[in-house]
Amino acid sequence: MIYNTLGKTGLEVSRLGFGTMRLPTIGSNDNIDESEASKMLKYGIENGINIIDTAYPYHAEGLDGEGNSEIFLGKFLNENSLRDEIILQTKSPSWLIEQHSDFDYYLDEQLERLQTDYIDIYLLHSLNVPDWEKVRDLNVFDFLDDALSSGKIKHIGFSSHIEVDYLIEIIDEYPKWEVAMTQMNYLDEYYQSGVMGLDFLKQVNMGSMIMEPLRGGRLINNIPDEVNELWNMAEVKRTPVEWAFQYLWNRDDVDCVFSGMNNLEQVKENVKIASTEDIISENDQEIIREVARTYRTFLGNDCTRCGYCMPCPHGVDIINCLTEYNIAHMMGDPKASAMQYFSQIDDDSRADSCVQCMECIPFCTQMLNIPEELQKVYEYFGSEFDHF
Ligand code: SF4
Ligand code: SF4
Repeated sequence: MIYNTLGKTGLEVSRLGFGTMRLPTIGSNDNIDESEASKMLKYGIENGINIIDTAYPYHAEGLDGEGNSEIFLGKFLNENSLRDEIILQTKSPSWLIEQHSDFDYYLDEQLERLQTDYIDIYLLHSLNVPDWEKVRDLNVFDFLDDALSSGKIKHIGFSSHIEVDYLIEIIDEYPKWEVAMTQMNYLDEYYQSGVMGLDFLKQVNMGSMIMEPLRGGRLINNIPDEVNELWNMAEVKRTPVEWAFQYLWNRDDVDCVFSGMNNLEQVKENVKIASTEDIISENDQEIIREVARTYRTFLGNDCTRCGYCMPCPHGVDIINCLTEYNIAHMMGDPKASAMQYFSQIDDDSRADSCVQCMECIPFCTQMLNIPEELQKVYEYFGSEFDHF
């Protein structure tokens, strides 16, 4: 495993972090397959991963509820006497905070769920502009100061999908930020805070943590022929997963990349890549840029399958509707995607079930106008398979 210093925290972190939002489940998202998930975590830790990320809602049935990821992780760390061996990161559910006392309420509940009396890194979760303004007005800085003084939190930061201007504004308002988690991969250099955000974090010596390194799997699944042809032209042959991770680890402004791994094979593969020094040549960097340009010509929408918009109160399977539309565009095979769309998504969960209530829009991490995107899906696939 290769380690980096996480900005001004001074912590030495494995450059691959273990994300616990996509652990294996049985039946439903809130039912973690604890046996399999434990094997994955053990393998990762035994092979050098020393930082684990969770959050209040991970592995919940809905977006707002309390999930089971923290509870499982607390149990796992306690039973295996691993709490003090790893850097534990979780996040304050910013969207649930309604009054100042809620900050402490959720922190104390999370400490209990995680069976610990301290959090190594505590992030304000997924700050968007309204939530940022809300928590700032509720004196979040007083809460953070107190939590640091009491030792309940060792280091503080935030995660966010915002534009670089807001990222800088947030950082400028509080001198004690130490880390930020932003979205980055070779398709997203100029999306959200992108490369400019990473550059700013480096300038102010904040630790940079990356989410969406594989862009919701888009960079490794259903790869278009045009992209495979470009990869084949590279000086060094790499798998799509290697390209995605090594692109990030070749940047000197990236400290830790979180991957939400779903099975043991993924953990093994990612650990192996994270343990391999692989300098990407300038020629191969140009191939990556060309691959990004090629992908952009195919995309139907920017959905990353993060799931934050789900569940839709009207039963629309937003993720899979947008995904099938994307795959159809990327693969250039509308009939194959239509077959999936009509066979895998229930009648009343397809795009034409959207009633345009707009409730999902504030939750979209990619700032998509989801009902508008669903309308495009409906116009593309129609309401019956037979016209393909
Ligand atoms: S706008 Fe459509 S997809 Fe979004 S919550 Fe409402 S019905 Fe569901
Ligand atoms: S529509 Fe937005 S919130 Fe929903 S899964 Fe896609 S990117 Fe995530």
